[in-house]
Order: sequence, then structure tokens, then C-alpha cells
Amino acid sequence: MNNYHTHTYRCRHASGDIADYVASARAAGLSELGFSDHCPHPDGRWSDVRMDLSELSGYVEAIRAAQVDSVRADDSPSPSAALREPRVYAGLECEWVPEYVSFMRDEFLGTFGLEYLVAGIHNYLHRGEWRDTYTISPPAELASFGSTSRSAMESGLFSFLAHPDVFCYSWMPWDENARACARDILETAQRTGTPLEINGYGMRKARVRADRGSRHPYPHESFWELASEYRIECVINSDAHRPIDTAANLEDGLALARKYKIPVRETLF
Ligand SMILES: [Zn+2]
Ligand SMILES: [Zn+2]
Repeated sequence: MNNYHTHTYRCRHASGDIADYVASARAAGLSELGFSDHCPHPDGRWSDVRMDLSELSGYVEAIRAAQVDSVRADDSPSPSAALREPRVYAGLECEWVPEYVSFMRDEFLGTFGLEYLVAGIHNYLHRGEWRDTYTISPPAELASFGSTSRSAMESGLFSFLAHPDVFCYSWMPWDENARACARDILETAQRTGTPLEINGYGMRKARVRADRGSRHPYPHESFWELASEYRIECVINSDAHRPIDTAANLEDGLALARKYKIPVRETLF
């Protein structure tokens, strides 16, 4: 299996560095490991949960060093060494900030030459103001979370949308508002060909009380049941914030995809 959603200590709410996650991926037998730490912004916004812009080059250099090791193992005369070494990719998990679209494209994909970007909507635009995804309250805010997710996918910048059902962390009932938001995201994913992520981190968080008893904050079963009505693909990731979690819940994610017959995009590259 593969994992394309990995954080490092640089985001200030994860532990471990590149080499620690590569070692864990190797031990778990992963074929591909992508790093997607939370991206910095030129104005330093939301800096409590992400690296500073000045840390970006060190992050990319550490990934490039791991890639060199991976290629060396490929060239090694011992076939078993090559088999065990995961291929490593450099990415970032980005918020949808309209004024930084060209910055993300030109700097992250251009100057730094990253292999991919992930959209992860932890903040969304509501009537021109930023709101926190973990405290969505009235239906109008939920609709704004949906439209921010839609804009991110329509940009074509992102290889997948992380935790598309993260709104279920704060929106408890699976009601008409939740279904409308889910359909907005699912319709856009189908139209733009953007894979949606089944996120393992939500399965490791404390369960929440909802209308039908307790459940994971995300992934939400009802979201993926609805997803089966659309022609979309999913990617299954651990969203690791600790090296020990590099391959965590990937099997659970696969079981969820199979349950609702969602095709799985095995590799991004
Ligand atoms: Zn994070
Ligand atoms: Zn993440």
C-alpha cells in the first residue's frame, strides 16, 4: 500500500522527521510514501499549526535526501533491499487561500519543484471572513465549507482533497444540510476528476456523539455511502502525525472503500 499524507515536527502538532517516517514506511512494507506537511504562507497566517516559510527549504532538502537513499537502494545488487525501500515524494497540504493560488503554483510546484499538493480545508471562507472547520455551526457556514472545498478542487492545483467529510467533526446530524454539502463536494470531485481521501487520522481520534449513536468524527459512513452514487475515486491515507502511524488505518480505509464500492486510486504517480 501507499500513503501520501504525512506530517513532520515542523507543523508544531506532529512528531518525528522525514527519516523516521521513511523507516516506519519501510517496516510496514509501504511502496510509496508522500510527505504533505501543512504549508507556510507569506504572511505567516495560522502559524501555530504549520512551518514558517523559512523552514520550507530544510523540509524539501530532507525529503530529497531520503529520495536519494531510495534510488540508491533501487540500484543495489540485493533485490530484497530495493523491494523494501519505499519511493518518497515531496508535497504540501494547503488551505484554499484564493490570493495565494499563484504563490502555491509558482513557489511550491515551481521553485521548490514539489511533486504534488493536497487540499485540506481546515479554514474556510464565509462571507469574506475566515472560519474554523472544527466549529461549523449554522447551515450557511456548512454551505461555505462546501463552496471553499469546491473552489479548491476547481483550481486543478491539487492531487486530491483530504478528508472531504471533515465537516462531520462539528456537524453532528446526517441531515439535509450535511447531504447538500456532501453532494456539492461529490459532484465537484466527479466533474473535476479530483480523488477524495478516506482519512485514517479521523479513525484514531476520539469518537463523537451524533444522531445515530457514537461514530468517528470522520470518515463518516453516510458520506461514503452517498459517494457510491458518483463516478469518483478515493485515495486512502493515514494522515500520520507520528512515525508509528505511517501506515495506520490504511486497511480500515480500504475496507470502507470496498464496503461502498468506491474505486481506489492506488498510486498518484
Ligand atoms: Zn495536521
Ligand atoms: Zn493532514
